[in-house]
Amino acid sequence: MLPLLFTLISLPYAAEALEPVISKETIEYHYGKHLQGYVDNLNKLVTGTEYEGMPLEEIVVKAQGGIFNNAGQILNHNLYFTQFAPVKEATTEGMNELAVMKAIVRDFGSLEAFKAEFEQKGVTLFGSGWVWLAADQEGKLVITQEPNAGNPLTKGLKPLLTMDVWEHAYYIDYRNRRAAHLQALWQIINWKEIERRYVCK
Ligand code: MN
Repeated sequence: MLPLLFTLISLPYAAEALEPVISKETIEYHYGKHLQGYVDNLNKLVTGTEYEGMPLEEIVVKAQGGIFNNAGQILNHNLYFTQFAPVKEATTEGMNELAVMKAIVRDFGSLEAFKAEFEQKGVTLFGSGWVWLAADQEGKLVITQEPNAGNPLTKGLKPLLTMDVWEHAYYIDYRNRRAAHLQALWQIINWKEIERRYVCK
């Protein structure tokens, strides 16, 4: 029997669709080279192990070392790339009515206060990693900083929204200006997708 292989997700937009926030060239490298690399690595690493065919979310909670790192990076990038929409489509009519937006106002005071704290946690994460908006089992929202391939699933939290602060995510377009990159990403967040993740069981 052929092993079940992990595959590269399809993007819900064209490679140039997120410009000028994320360039086509960055998508080609970040999605086409980096994410593809993690997929290829994981397929090699899990062959013949208990992790073969296991869902990524389960591997991330159970595995260590190289298998954790590559599975985590695939899961993180899948959540990252599927949370975006082109600038013109990302602005959601009736955004204030979303359950996740009401929870943001409840738990952070306002959308602006949430964005400020999120960006600050992204900027101050030393080295490579991810900043996350995540929910606990009661739906309370928290922002977490995760180094390297980390995901809030390992803390029992549900991941909702993430920004990649590995330099490969922004160096082509923003060089060393991580803060400017994080600030720009809000323009392409598809809040309907964040809402879907928040309300799903
Ligand atoms: Mn990345």
